[in-house]
Amino acid sequence: MTIAVIGAGLTGASAAAELREQGYDGDIVLVGAEPHAPYERPPLSKDILLGKGTAAEAAAKDEGWYTEHRVELITGTRVTALDTAARTFDVDGRSVSYDELLIATGATSRHLAMADESGVPVAYLRTVEESEALKEHLGGSLLIIGAGWIGLEVASAARAAGGSVTVVESASLPLVAAIGEDMARVFADLHREHGVHLHLDTSLTTLEQDEGGTRAVLSDGTEVRPDLVLVAIGAEPETALAEAAGLEVDHGILVDSRLRTSDPHIYAAGDVANHDHPDLGRLRVEHWDTAIQQGKHAARSMLGGQEPYARQPYFFTDQYDLGMEYVGHLGREGYDEIVMRGDRASRVLNAVMITDGKVIAAMHTNDWDATDHLRAWLGLEATDRLRDTSVALADTLAG
Ligand SMILES: Cc1cc2nc3c(=O)[nH]c(=O)nc-3n(C[C@H](O)[C@H](O)[C@H](O)COP(=O)(O)OP(=O)(O)OC[C@H]3O[C@@H](n4cnc5c(N)ncnc54)[C@H](O)[C@@H]3O)c2cc1C
Repeated sequence: MTIAVIGAGLTGASAAAELREQGYDGDIVLVGAEPHAPYERPPLSKDILLGKGTAAEAAAKDEGWYTEHRVELITGTRVTALDTAARTFDVDGRSVSYDELLIATGATSRHLAMADESGVPVAYLRTVEESEALKEHLGGSLLIIGAGWIGLEVASAARAAGGSVTVVESASLPLVAAIGEDMARVFADLHREHGVHLHLDTSLTTLEQDEGGTRAVLSDGTEVRPDLVLVAIGAEPETALAEAAGLEVDHGILVDSRLRTSDPHIYAAGDVANHDHPDLGRLRVEHWDTAIQQGKHAARSMLGGQEPYARQPYFFTDQYDLGMEYVGHLGREGYDEIVMRGDRASRVLNAVMITDGKVIAAMHTNDWDATDHLRAWLGLEATDRLRDTSVALADTLAG
C-alpha cells in the first residue's frame, strides 16, 4: 500500500508522522515544491527576523527523521497533474501510484498588482528565502501594506532593528476581523507606542519610482519614501492541482468533516482545505496548530478513521514583548458581548467573546495562566459568574 502526500509543509510532515505513529507500515511518499524538507513558518516573521533563530531551527523534523521512518521525501518538485481514475501522478518523469492521497499544498501570498507592476522594490513573506532577504532591510525605512498578523509581526521586528515603519490598513483597526474591536485596539496602541506610523481606514493610492527613489502616497494624503514595500494582505489557498484534477474547490479544496475531498481516495488538510467543521460550518483556517492537527487527523482518516475533525482553531502571535493566544472562531458577525479581565496599561489581559449567550472565542495577551481556563469556556453558556469581572477567571468555572 502507498499513501502519498503532495505538499511538504507542516501539514504534510505531520500527516506522515501520524501514519507511522498509528502503526501504518506501507510506503509513504511526501512531495514538496520547495527545495527544503518541511519547515515551520511562524519563525519566518519572528525569530529569524529578530536574529533569535535560524532557518535550520525551523525544520519540522530532524534531518534523519525521514529515512528513519521510511518516508520518501522528494523536494524541489511541483506536482502539476493527477490521474484520479488510475490513482497516479508524475514526479520527475516517474509515475507514483497511490492508494490514498493527501493534498497539503498550503497557501501562497496574495499579490497586489499595483505593487508588482510599480517597478519599486516589493517584498512578500511566505518562504524561508523571503524571510532571510527581508531581514537585511529591517533597519531601513519600510512601508507595510496590511496590518494583519504577518504585517504586524514584521513591523515589530523592524522596530527592534531600529527601522522606520509605516503600516497602511484599509480597515478601521488592525486584526479587527479576527479578534474584534476591543482587542484590536490593544494592538493598535501597542504599535503606536513602539513608534509605528499606523494609518487606518487608509489605502495606497500611488506607488512609483522617481529621482528620489520610491514614492508612495496614501489615501489620507501622506507621502512616504520607503526603501522597501512589504505587501502583507493575506494568502490564497494553493488549489491549482486540485482544480486541474476536477476536485470540488471553493475558496480552498472542499472537504467533509473527516477531511475527505469529493474524490473518495483524496484528502486535503491545512491551509488549503475548506473544511466542513461540525460546530463552526465551512471554514478554512491558516494556523500552525491546524496544520499539525488536521495533518494528523487526515492521516487517521486515510487509515479508515471515521471521527470528524472538531477541534476549535488556535492561534498565537508574538509582537514586541506581547505574546497572545486565541482559541475559537468569531465568524463574520463578530460577537454580541465581550468580557475582559486584567490591566490594559500593562496589557496583561484576557477576553471572552460571547454570541447568543455562548462563548465562541477567547484570548489573552501576556496572561499565560489564562490559557486553560479560556479553552475550558469555549462552547459553554456564559454565566453571571463569568460576566462578573470581580471574580478571577480561574474561579469562574466553579459553581
Ligand atoms: C510568515 C508566517 C508566519 C506565520 N506565523 C504564524 C503564527 O505565529 N501562528 C500561527 O498559528 N500560524 C502562523 N502562520 C501560519 C502557518 O504557518 C500556516 O498555517 C502553515 O504553514 C500551514 O501549513 P501547510 O503545510 O498547510 O501549508 P504550507 O506551509 O503553505 O505548505 C505547503 C507546501 O506545499 C508546497 N506545494 C504547493 N503546491 C504544490 C504542488 N503542486 N506540488 C508539490 N508541492 C506543493 C508548497 O511549496 C509548500 O511548501 C504563519 C505563516 C507565515 C507565512
